[in-house]
Amino acid sequence: MTTTRRQDRLPSTRVSTPPPAVPPPRFPPVVPPAAATPPAPVPPARPSRGAVVVRVLVVLLVLGAAATGLIAALGGPGAPARDLPAAAQVAPTGMDPELERRVAAATAAAAAEGVELSVTSGWRSAEEQQRLVDEAVERHGVPEAYRWVLPPGDSAHVQGLAVDLGPLEGWLWLGERAEAFGLCRTYVNEPWHFEPLPDGATTCPAPHPDASWAW
Ligand SMILES: [Zn+2]
Repeated sequence: MTTTRRQDRLPSTRVSTPPPAVPPPRFPPVVPPAAATPPAPVPPARPSRGAVVVRVLVVLLVLGAAATGLIAALGGPGAPARDLPAAAQVAPTGMDPELERRVAAATAAAAAEGVELSVTSGWRSAEEQQRLVDEAVERHGVPEAYRWVLPPGDSAHVQGLAVDLGPLEGWLWLGERAEAFGLCRTYVNEPWHFEPLPDGATTCPAPHPDASWAW
């Protein structure tokens, strides 16, 4: 294992080469067993009659459950309304599911070429992000700190729409082919940080020099 440190903190020294270390994962690396094999393309298929019946039943069940919840919410005699578990809405890591799929595909492709690629920081809570901001400002002051961290309200990490990847060889590998996986580098000064290729785009927008533009 290589020594790791959080990259979104500022480097202790200003150097022209990117830091070789990678930050510790905010969550366990998102290299699930499913990521070991690239998702096979699913050919469009006409659903069988049985599948249609199952889907109709599922829809009816969902509608029934929703109606029960509505009645409860309106003070009716039904069972108390329960919130859907968060896991049903987002990936367990908190990352946007589509971004997670793209990262998993890249991770699998890298592994097939013998290159290690893993998530070192994905989703962050607003509290975690604010802590990073506070630390950066305390250590490096403004405006230098603003080049590296964004406030919780603007951070794509907090929205589940950004990943920091590692190790060095991994993000170097991905940097040469990120668009093919629907990923883009966002900041020149953070070459390990990737966000989804915008919907409808075929090429990545030019990266910002650093994060300071968003403050
Ligand atoms: Zn990042």
